[in-house]
Amino acid sequence: MTSPLANLQSQIDELLARIASLESLEALRAAEPSLTGKRSVLSSLQKSLGGLAPEERSDAGATLQGARRHVEIALEDRRVELAREERRIRLQADRLDLGDVVVQSVRWPATVGHRGLVPSTQRELEDVFVGMGFTVADGPEVESDWYNFEALNIPPAHPARGMWDTFYVDLGEPETVVLRTHTSPTQIHLMELALAQEALPIHSVMPGRCYRRDTPDARHLATFHQIEGLVVDRDITFADLAGVIETFTRSYFGSDIESRLRPAYFPFTEPSAEFEITCTICRGDGCRTCSQTGWIELGGCGMLDPAVFSAVGLDADEWSGFAFGFGIDRCAQMRYQIGDMRALIENDVRFLGQFS
Ligand SMILES: [Zn+2]
Repeated sequence: MTSPLANLQSQIDELLARIASLESLEALRAAEPSLTGKRSVLSSLQKSLGGLAPEERSDAGATLQGARRHVEIALEDRRVELAREERRIRLQADRLDLGDVVVQSVRWPATVGHRGLVPSTQRELEDVFVGMGFTVADGPEVESDWYNFEALNIPPAHPARGMWDTFYVDLGEPETVVLRTHTSPTQIHLMELALAQEALPIHSVMPGRCYRRDTPDARHLATFHQIEGLVVDRDITFADLAGVIETFTRSYFGSDIESRLRPAYFPFTEPSAEFEITCTICRGDGCRTCSQTGWIELGGCGMLDPAVFSAVGLDADEWSGFAFGFGIDRCAQMRYQIGDMRALIENDVRFLGQFS
Protein backbone atom coordinates (compact mmCIF):
# COMPACT_ATOMS: atom_id res chain seq x y z
CA MET A 1 0.00 0.00 0.00
CA THR A 2 1.26 3.44 -0.89
CA SER A 3 2.10 5.69 1.99
CA PRO A 4 -0.45 8.49 2.52
CA LEU A 5 2.58 10.79 2.64
CA ALA A 6 3.86 9.79 -0.81
CA ASN A 7 3.02 13.20 -2.30
CA LEU A 8 3.81 15.14 0.87
CA GLN A 9 6.64 17.18 -0.61
CA SER A 10 4.63 18.45 -3.59
CA GLN A 11 1.64 19.10 -1.32
CA ILE A 12 3.83 21.16 1.02
CA ASP A 13 5.34 23.03 -1.94
CA GLU A 14 1.86 23.87 -3.11
CA LEU A 15 0.90 25.19 0.34
CA LEU A 16 4.07 27.31 0.51
CA ALA A 17 3.34 28.72 -2.98
CA ARG A 18 -0.19 29.63 -1.90
CA ILE A 19 1.16 31.33 1.25
CA ALA A 20 3.67 33.30 -0.80
CA SER A 21 0.92 34.47 -3.15
CA LEU A 22 -1.29 35.88 -0.36
CA GLU A 23 -1.63 39.66 -0.97
CA SER A 24 -3.22 40.90 2.25
CA LEU A 25 -3.78 40.06 5.89
CA GLU A 26 -7.45 39.70 5.09
CA ALA A 27 -6.72 37.12 2.39
CA LEU A 28 -4.35 35.36 4.78
CA ARG A 29 -6.98 35.14 7.50
CA ALA A 30 -9.52 33.79 4.98
CA ALA A 31 -7.06 31.16 3.67
CA GLU A 32 -5.79 30.06 7.09
CA PRO A 33 -8.34 27.19 7.70
CA SER A 34 -7.51 25.62 4.35
CA LEU A 35 -3.74 25.98 4.92
CA THR A 36 -3.25 24.72 8.47
CA GLY A 37 -6.75 24.32 9.92
CA LYS A 38 -9.26 21.45 10.07
CA ARG A 39 -10.11 21.78 6.38
CA SER A 40 -6.47 21.68 5.33
CA VAL A 41 -4.67 18.96 3.44
CA LEU A 42 -2.44 18.59 6.48
CA SER A 43 -5.42 17.64 8.64
CA SER A 44 -6.68 15.11 6.08
CA LEU A 45 -3.23 13.58 5.92
CA GLN A 46 -3.21 13.43 9.71
CA LYS A 47 -6.48 11.50 9.65
CA SER A 48 -5.25 9.11 6.96
CA LEU A 49 -2.32 8.08 9.19
CA GLY A 50 -4.86 6.19 11.32
CA GLY A 51 -4.89 3.40 8.69
CA LEU A 52 -1.14 2.74 9.05
CA ALA A 53 0.51 0.04 11.11
CA PRO A 54 1.54 1.42 14.52
CA GLU A 55 5.29 1.28 13.76
CA GLU A 56 4.79 3.17 10.46
CA ARG A 57 2.35 5.57 12.05
CA SER A 58 4.89 6.91 14.50
CA ASP A 59 7.47 7.77 11.79
CA ALA A 60 4.85 9.21 9.41
CA GLY A 61 3.37 11.24 12.27
CA ALA A 62 6.78 12.78 12.99
CA THR A 63 7.32 13.55 9.30
CA LEU A 64 3.90 15.13 8.97
CA GLN A 65 4.45 17.11 12.16
CA GLY A 66 7.70 18.48 10.73
CA ALA A 67 5.96 19.41 7.50
CA ARG A 68 3.13 21.15 9.35
CA ARG A 69 5.65 23.10 11.42
CA HIS A 70 7.32 24.20 8.19
CA VAL A 71 4.01 25.47 6.74
CA GLU A 72 3.05 27.21 9.99
CA ILE A 73 6.37 29.08 10.13
CA ALA A 74 5.98 30.17 6.48
CA LEU A 75 2.44 31.34 7.24
CA GLU A 76 3.59 33.29 10.30
CA ASP A 77 6.43 34.91 8.36
CA ARG A 78 4.01 35.92 5.64
CA ARG A 79 1.65 37.38 8.27
CA VAL A 80 4.44 39.56 9.72
CA GLU A 81 5.52 40.63 6.24
CA LEU A 82 1.98 41.63 5.19
CA ALA A 83 1.33 43.45 8.49
CA ARG A 84 4.51 45.49 7.99
CA GLU A 85 3.57 46.32 4.43
CA GLU A 86 0.03 47.37 5.36
CA ARG A 87 1.33 49.56 8.18
CA ARG A 88 3.76 51.23 5.77
CA ILE A 89 0.93 51.97 3.33
CA ARG A 90 -1.24 53.36 6.13
CA LEU A 91 1.55 55.67 7.39
CA GLN A 92 2.22 56.83 3.87
CA ALA A 93 -1.43 57.83 3.51
CA ASP A 94 -1.49 59.61 6.89
CA ARG A 95 1.75 61.52 6.34
CA LEU A 96 1.45 65.33 6.24
CA ASP A 97 2.92 66.52 3.01
CA LEU A 98 4.44 69.82 4.10
CA GLY A 99 5.32 70.71 0.54
CA ASP A 100 1.63 70.49 -0.24
CA VAL A 101 0.79 72.93 2.57
CA VAL A 102 3.20 75.51 1.13
CA VAL A 103 1.64 75.19 -2.30
CA GLN A 104 -1.78 75.54 -0.69
CA SER A 105 -0.88 78.81 1.09
CA VAL A 106 0.54 80.32 -2.07
CA ARG A 107 -2.93 80.12 -3.58
CA TRP A 108 -3.93 82.94 -1.23
CA PRO A 109 -2.09 86.17 -1.90
CA ALA A 110 1.13 86.12 0.10
CA THR A 111 0.99 89.02 2.56
CA VAL A 112 3.90 90.91 4.04
CA GLY A 113 3.39 93.05 7.14
CA HIS A 114 3.70 96.79 6.86
CA ARG A 115 3.84 99.83 9.07
CA GLY A 116 0.48 100.80 10.59
CA LEU A 117 -1.36 103.91 9.45
CA VAL A 118 -0.53 105.98 12.54
CA PRO A 119 3.23 105.19 12.63
CA SER A 120 3.50 105.77 8.88
CA THR A 121 1.63 109.08 9.21
CA GLN A 122 4.02 110.03 12.02
CA ARG A 123 6.98 109.30 9.75
CA GLU A 124 5.53 111.38 6.93
CA LEU A 125 4.93 114.29 9.32
CA GLU A 126 8.47 114.00 10.69
CA ASP A 127 9.78 114.03 7.12
CA VAL A 128 7.92 117.26 6.34
CA PHE A 129 9.33 118.99 9.44
CA VAL A 130 12.84 117.61 8.95
CA GLY A 131 12.66 119.08 5.45
CA MET A 132 11.89 122.42 7.08
CA GLY A 133 14.99 122.22 9.30
CA PHE A 134 13.49 120.72 12.45
CA THR A 135 15.05 117.90 14.48
CA VAL A 136 12.94 115.09 16.00
CA ALA A 137 12.95 114.55 19.80
CA ASP A 138 11.37 111.89 21.97
CA GLY A 139 10.10 112.07 25.57
CA PRO A 140 8.71 109.79 28.31
CA GLU A 141 5.04 108.74 28.31
CA VAL A 142 4.88 108.64 32.11
CA GLU A 143 5.46 112.08 33.57
CA SER A 144 5.52 113.86 36.88
CA ASP A 145 2.80 116.40 37.50
CA TRP A 146 5.47 119.09 37.23
CA TYR A 147 6.42 118.27 33.63
CA ASN A 148 2.89 117.54 32.46
CA PHE A 149 1.23 120.54 34.11
CA GLU A 150 3.11 122.87 36.45
CA ALA A 151 6.08 123.74 34.24
CA LEU A 152 3.58 124.44 31.48
CA ASN A 153 1.98 127.15 33.57
CA ILE A 154 -0.85 124.93 34.85
CA PRO A 155 -0.53 125.01 38.67
CA PRO A 156 -2.48 122.56 40.87
CA ALA A 157 -6.18 123.45 41.14
CA HIS A 158 -5.90 125.72 38.09
CA PRO A 159 -9.19 125.55 36.16
CA ALA A 160 -7.24 124.80 32.96
CA ARG A 161 -6.56 121.30 34.34
CA GLY A 162 -10.17 120.55 33.46
CA MET A 163 -9.07 120.68 29.78
CA TRP A 164 -7.35 117.32 30.25
CA ASP A 165 -9.04 114.22 31.66
CA THR A 166 -5.97 112.74 33.19
CA PHE A 167 -4.90 109.19 34.05
CA TYR A 168 -3.11 109.37 37.40
CA VAL A 169 -0.55 106.68 38.21
CA ASP A 170 -0.55 105.58 41.84
CA LEU A 171 3.04 104.72 42.70
CA GLY A 172 2.54 105.37 46.40
CA GLU A 173 4.95 108.31 45.99
CA PRO A 174 4.38 111.75 47.41
CA GLU A 175 4.92 113.10 43.89
CA THR A 176 1.95 112.98 41.53
CA VAL A 177 2.64 110.85 38.45
CA VAL A 178 0.45 110.88 35.31
CA LEU A 179 0.30 109.34 31.87
CA ARG A 180 1.13 112.36 29.76
CA THR A 181 -1.99 114.07 28.46
CA HIS A 182 -0.09 115.80 25.65
CA THR A 183 3.41 115.84 24.14
CA SER A 184 4.07 119.32 25.61
CA PRO A 185 6.10 118.02 28.61
CA THR A 186 8.77 117.00 26.08
CA GLN A 187 9.18 120.73 25.34
CA ILE A 188 10.21 121.24 28.98
CA HIS A 189 12.71 118.35 28.85
CA LEU A 190 14.09 119.72 25.60
CA MET A 191 14.53 123.27 26.92
CA GLU A 192 16.20 121.98 30.11
CA LEU A 193 18.54 119.84 28.02
CA ALA A 194 19.35 122.65 25.58
CA LEU A 195 20.06 125.00 28.49
CA ALA A 196 22.31 122.44 30.23
CA GLN A 197 24.20 121.63 27.02
CA GLU A 198 24.19 125.20 25.72
CA ALA A 199 22.46 123.83 22.64
CA LEU A 200 20.10 126.75 21.95
CA PRO A 201 18.37 127.67 19.67
CA ILE A 202 15.80 124.83 19.39
CA HIS A 203 13.87 123.86 16.27
CA SER A 204 12.32 120.50 17.10
CA VAL A 205 9.23 118.39 16.68
CA MET A 206 8.23 115.85 19.31
CA PRO A 207 5.85 113.10 18.23
CA GLY A 208 4.46 110.53 20.65
CA ARG A 209 1.64 108.69 22.34
CA CYS A 210 -0.63 110.51 24.80
CA TYR A 211 -3.42 109.42 27.13
CA ARG A 212 -6.72 110.90 28.21
CA ARG A 213 -9.55 109.44 30.22
CA ASP A 214 -11.91 109.61 27.26
CA THR A 215 -14.50 107.08 26.18
CA PRO A 216 -13.50 106.17 22.61
CA ASP A 217 -15.94 107.43 19.98
CA ALA A 218 -15.80 108.35 16.30
CA ARG A 219 -13.61 111.40 17.01
CA HIS A 220 -11.76 110.57 20.26
CA LEU A 221 -9.51 107.81 21.54
CA ALA A 222 -8.20 107.31 25.09
CA THR A 223 -4.77 106.64 23.58
CA PHE A 224 -3.80 108.92 20.76
CA HIS A 225 -0.75 110.47 19.13
CA GLN A 226 0.37 114.04 18.94
CA ILE A 227 3.18 115.84 17.28
CA GLU A 228 4.44 118.91 19.04
CA GLY A 229 6.65 121.61 17.56
CA LEU A 230 8.93 123.93 19.51
CA VAL A 231 11.03 126.84 18.31
CA VAL A 232 13.15 128.78 20.78
CA ASP A 233 15.37 131.40 19.20
CA ARG A 234 16.03 135.12 19.20
CA ASP A 235 13.50 137.56 17.74
CA ILE A 236 10.83 135.01 16.96
CA THR A 237 7.45 136.52 16.07
CA PHE A 238 3.93 135.30 15.52
CA ALA A 239 4.54 135.66 11.78
CA ASP A 240 7.23 132.94 12.03
CA LEU A 241 4.67 130.67 13.68
CA ALA A 242 2.01 131.36 11.03
CA GLY A 243 4.61 130.75 8.29
CA VAL A 244 5.64 127.37 9.72
CA ILE A 245 1.98 126.26 10.04
CA GLU A 246 1.20 127.35 6.47
CA THR A 247 4.33 125.72 5.00
CA PHE A 248 3.56 122.48 6.83
CA THR A 249 -0.10 122.47 5.76
CA ARG A 250 0.70 122.86 2.07
CA SER A 251 3.61 120.37 2.17
CA TYR A 252 1.62 117.67 3.91
CA PHE A 253 -1.96 118.08 2.70
CA GLY A 254 -1.32 119.60 -0.72
CA SER A 255 -0.86 123.05 -2.23
CA ASP A 256 -4.62 123.70 -2.42
CA ILE A 257 -5.06 123.31 1.35
CA GLU A 258 -4.62 126.53 3.34
CA SER A 259 -4.33 127.25 7.05
CA ARG A 260 -5.74 129.98 9.24
CA LEU A 261 -5.38 130.90 12.91
CA ARG A 262 -8.17 131.74 15.31
CA PRO A 263 -7.71 133.15 18.82
CA ALA A 264 -7.81 130.51 21.56
CA TYR A 265 -6.56 129.91 25.07
CA PHE A 266 -3.79 127.57 26.24
CA PRO A 267 -2.06 128.09 29.57
CA PHE A 268 1.47 127.70 28.14
CA THR A 269 1.22 130.08 25.20
CA GLU A 270 0.34 133.77 24.97
CA PRO A 271 -1.12 134.75 22.60
CA SER A 272 -2.65 131.39 21.64
CA ALA A 273 -4.46 130.24 18.56
CA GLU A 274 -6.21 127.23 17.13
CA PHE A 275 -5.17 126.47 13.63
CA GLU A 276 -7.61 125.31 11.02
CA ILE A 277 -7.02 123.96 7.56
CA THR A 278 -9.19 123.81 4.47
CA CYS A 279 -11.57 120.86 4.84
CA THR A 280 -9.83 118.00 3.05
CA ILE A 281 -13.14 116.34 2.20
CA CYS A 282 -14.97 119.20 0.43
CA ARG A 283 -11.82 121.21 -0.39
CA GLY A 284 -13.44 124.29 1.21
CA ASP A 285 -16.89 124.13 -0.38
CA GLY A 286 -18.62 123.10 2.85
CA CYS A 287 -19.78 119.62 3.88
CA ARG A 288 -21.17 117.71 6.85
CA THR A 289 -17.70 116.95 8.27
CA CYS A 290 -16.74 120.66 8.45
CA SER A 291 -20.27 121.76 9.42
CA GLN A 292 -20.49 123.62 6.11
CA THR A 293 -17.68 126.00 7.14
CA GLY A 294 -15.07 124.69 4.70
CA TRP A 295 -12.53 124.59 7.57
CA ILE A 296 -11.43 121.89 9.99
CA GLU A 297 -9.59 122.45 13.25
CA LEU A 298 -6.27 120.64 13.32
CA GLY A 299 -4.40 121.81 16.42
CA GLY A 300 -3.32 124.51 18.80
CA CYS A 301 -0.36 126.89 18.81
CA GLY A 302 0.95 130.11 20.25
CA MET A 303 3.92 132.15 21.43
CA LEU A 304 5.64 130.60 24.46
CA ASP A 305 4.40 132.13 27.71
CA PRO A 306 7.20 133.82 29.72
CA ALA A 307 6.06 131.72 32.71
CA VAL A 308 7.21 128.60 30.81
CA PHE A 309 10.61 130.19 30.13
CA SER A 310 11.06 131.00 33.79
CA ALA A 311 9.97 127.46 34.83
CA VAL A 312 12.98 126.03 32.96
CA GLY A 313 15.32 128.95 33.75
CA LEU A 314 15.47 130.54 30.30
CA ASP A 315 15.79 134.32 30.05
CA ALA A 316 12.56 135.56 28.47
CA ASP A 317 14.24 138.83 27.56
CA GLU A 318 16.85 137.06 25.45
CA TRP A 319 14.81 134.18 24.03
CA SER A 320 11.44 133.96 22.40
CA GLY A 321 9.63 131.13 20.73
CA PHE A 322 6.48 129.37 19.76
CA ALA A 323 4.93 125.97 20.09
CA PHE A 324 2.29 124.08 18.19
CA GLY A 325 0.73 120.67 18.46
CA PHE A 326 -1.82 118.54 16.72
CA GLY A 327 -3.11 114.97 16.53
CA ILE A 328 -1.30 112.48 14.31
CA ASP A 329 -4.38 110.23 14.35
CA ARG A 330 -6.50 113.23 13.35
CA CYS A 331 -4.12 113.96 10.46
CA ALA A 332 -4.41 110.37 9.24
CA GLN A 333 -8.18 110.56 9.63
CA MET A 334 -8.38 113.72 7.51
CA ARG A 335 -5.87 112.70 4.91
CA TYR A 336 -7.48 109.29 4.31
CA GLN A 337 -11.02 110.41 5.15
CA ILE A 338 -11.57 107.84 7.90
CA GLY A 339 -15.05 108.23 9.34
CA ASP A 340 -14.41 106.61 12.71
CA MET A 341 -11.17 107.00 14.68
CA ARG A 342 -11.75 103.65 16.40
CA ALA A 343 -10.82 101.93 13.14
CA LEU A 344 -7.23 102.99 13.94
CA ILE A 345 -7.06 100.77 17.04
CA GLU A 346 -9.34 97.87 16.15
CA ASN A 347 -6.70 95.94 14.16
CA ASP A 348 -9.13 94.82 11.48
CA VAL A 349 -6.84 93.51 8.75
CA ARG A 350 -9.37 94.50 6.07
CA PHE A 351 -8.96 98.11 7.19
CA LEU A 352 -5.20 97.95 7.82
CA GLY A 353 -4.57 96.26 4.45
CA GLN A 354 -5.79 99.36 2.59
CA PHE A 355 -2.74 101.31 3.72
CA SER A 356 0.09 98.97 2.75
ZN1 LIG B 1 -15.90 120.02 4.36
